Amino acid sequence: MTARPIHSPEPLPLERLTEVIHFLHANGWTPATSSNFSCRSAAGAEGVADGFQVSISGLDKGTFTANDFIPVDADGKVSDPARAHIRPSAETLLHSVVYRLYPQANVVLHCHSVNGTVLSKLYESQGGLWLKNFEILKGFEGIKTHDTQVWLPIFPNAQDMTVLSAQVEAELPQHTPIYGFMLAGHGLYTWGETTAQAKRHVEVFEFLFEAILKLRSYGYPDYSG
Ligand SMILES: [Zn+2]
Repeated sequence: MTARPIHSPEPLPLERLTEVIHFLHANGWTPATSSNFSCRSAAGAEGVADGFQVSISGLDKGTFTANDFIPVDADGKVSDPARAHIRPSAETLLHSVVYRLYPQANVVLHCHSVNGTVLSKLYESQGGLWLKNFEILKGFEGIKTHDTQVWLPIFPNAQDMTVLSAQVEAELPQHTPIYGFMLAGHGLYTWGETTAQAKRHVEVFEFLFEAILKLRSYGYPDYSG
């Protein structure tokens, strides 16, 4: 009898996203149950077609599993009445904004790194900073040269997500190209068409945050444009 070939099935989107969450956690970018993540629901998948799956609030990202997501509708509300008692991340409204503004975005990643937090405080008063003249910028989808500049908006942190998400939704369309935004003293939001692309964007941002902070510590001219 011939043995049947063993196929390793493609990981499901939430499994792939969970692997990325563990990678981000291993880098120290999702400490103390912080950070939140989502991916757009595929048509026919669990949840409503125009909604997304978002991480449940308050879980350790080092032990996060593919079962720790909750489907929400396009406005970030839990769409399954049987699970209405489960709390999606408090920042789910910001994920809704990204999916509304950028139809190509299928994955949103939000991290709380030390470097991002420090940098966001340094540039908060000017509302953002220019990222320019670094080779790593080519890691952003569509960028082909280091000789470019990308604006990274920084919003004051807030606990009223309705007000904050309206502010973010009004400003982001004013910037092209755009790959993410920061909340001051809080963290980074970035996104991608695929999980791999969104992960790459986090890595580009984190590289830049560390490089800019190091350059500043050596007295290198400011990168704020
Ligand atoms: Zn956060």
